[in-house]
Amino acid sequence: MENITITENQKKIIARLGDPIYTPEHLETWLNSNDNVFANAPAALTAMGAHGFYKAVLAIEKLERSERERLCKEAEENADGTCRGYCHSETDDEPAEMCKECERSEFHGEELEG
Ligand SMILES: [Zn+2]
Repeated sequence: MENITITENQKKIIARLGDPIYTPEHLETWLNSNDNVFANAPAALTAMGAHGFYKAVLAIEKLERSERERLCKEAEENADGTCRGYCHSETDDEPAEMCKECERSEFHGEELEG
């Protein structure tokens, strides 16, 4: 079984959810435990809870990514189709929020101010 690592982005989501039990440390410990339910039922059930919570975190991450991508498609594009990072509906003096991390954005790798 390959080890599951909680990414920085997933840690942010977990922090926002603010559950007292399901912290990144708790999840990493239990997602990577491999207890048999017949040999150690409490451990196996704790791991099952961690897997459920982690699945929800992955679903939230996916949802947020698709929402960002949808908003990015509404932003201005260069002639070559890359993202300019400016939303049509907003002023053009700074990149739109969803495009600050946009891989297609020309702001990628540049210093962002403010
Ligand atoms: Zn974008």
